[in-house]
Amino acid sequence: MQIELINTGTELMRGDVLNTDHQWLCRQLADAGYTVARQVAVDDGAAHIQEAAREALGRADIVITSGGLGPTSDDLTRDAIADLLGRRLIEDASVRARIDAWFAARNRPQPPATRIQAMVPEGAIVIPNTHGTAPGLRMRCGHGSIADSTVAADKWLIMLPGPPRELQPMFLEGVLPWLKAAFPPPGPTVCRILRSTGLGESVIQEMVGEPLSKLGGGGLEVGYCARPGEVDVRLTACGAAAEALVADAETVVRGQLGDHVFGVGGEVLEQVVVRLLTNRRRTVAAAESCTGGRLSSRITDVPGASDVFVGGAVTYSNDLKQRMLGVRSETLAAHGAVSEAAAREMAEGARARLGADYALATTGIAGPSGGTETKPVGTVFIAMAGPDRTLVRHEWNRFDRETFKRVTTQQALDLLRRELL
Ligand code: ATP
Ligand code: MG
Repeated sequence: MQIELINTGTELMRGDVLNTDHQWLCRQLADAGYTVARQVAVDDGAAHIQEAAREALGRADIVITSGGLGPTSDDLTRDAIADLLGRRLIEDASVRARIDAWFAARNRPQPPATRIQAMVPEGAIVIPNTHGTAPGLRMRCGHGSIADSTVAADKWLIMLPGPPRELQPMFLEGVLPWLKAAFPPPGPTVCRILRSTGLGESVIQEMVGEPLSKLGGGGLEVGYCARPGEVDVRLTACGAAAEALVADAETVVRGQLGDHVFGVGGEVLEQVVVRLLTNRRRTVAAAESCTGGRLSSRITDVPGASDVFVGGAVTYSNDLKQRMLGVRSETLAAHGAVSEAAAREMAEGARARLGADYALATTGIAGPSGGTETKPVGTVFIAMAGPDRTLVRHEWNRFDRETFKRVTTQQALDLLRRELL
């Protein structure tokens, strides 16, 4: 069974947007035991979309497109495909009702153009969009349905919206279950992703590569995926013994990496921390300088954070560090705001003044300027104050500002995670 992808969007061809739909879909399909044979990206031109779809349908059994289902003049996928397959567009009453309800529920004026999204090619099966208005579409394209009859047998064409936050739930809820039922994958595939923090990917490979290679006569596929502040170890196996092999591999990885492993699958570090705090009925506060609120933002990304997160202070100036957190002027004069002593006082002050069981504090030099010989750019102190003790981590996160903030919040969350374990 052959699957091909077509990602549409002029923004992809101009390099304005990274084609993450491509990567994400390939990853999901691979994890489910399917292989994507080919992928192309094309701009929003109707002729280019049709040409790509015609070619892909000439080879593959299933063609998945992304993008161009919205209401604007550059959203042409639906029309181009209907035209290619010789299908009329007809209004789908249920989609129309959903779109009207979507605007009504948000109390927003509804531009008439949004109703275009209720026009679906004749015979297409609608895939509901739980995160937006444009529905996905699944169409069977039988013999002779394309003008020049290049499509010989029954094939399926699936159209998904471009925005990842719409495409991803739609694929998982509306496409993958159907695909597994209609085209069962060749063999059971087990894939487990172990997420770690605090070690680089090469170090991790040195630690786990050798012991993993001794497992299961080579049937195990091991992958490493590094992102700022974390590394995933991906363990995949196919066939009857896949589950046992992956379980053995997981034991090996956990044995080698210990509590550097913070989660499995899609779980992110802030979720783990909120879960640990919830289970232990503990609360946390944040006192942020160099992370500018990012730490609080990550914690509040987790549903249920209100049970454990009391709040945070972004104290960028020395003055505010003193007034809001009680950092002493002598400390700032003697050691500076970016120092172990200041971080400690920020965390302890936040814990006392904001009234939480734990407090995390960050203070550092994100750069690109502001570094000195003794405190170069990237210097950061991260403190965790708790009922039993205060710990301060001194790190050197020499990255661009964005990565600096990401890695620093990661280290702060991990400091608390380890204290809670
Ligand atoms: P909309 O209803 O939002 O217009 P759509 O299905 O028409 O959705 P597009 O107009 O093609 O989708 O894309 C909308 C936005 O979704 C793009 O600006 C881009 O940010 C994002 N997007 C589209 N395609 C991709 C892709 N392949 N990878 C990552 N992001 C994408
Ligand atoms: Mg669009």
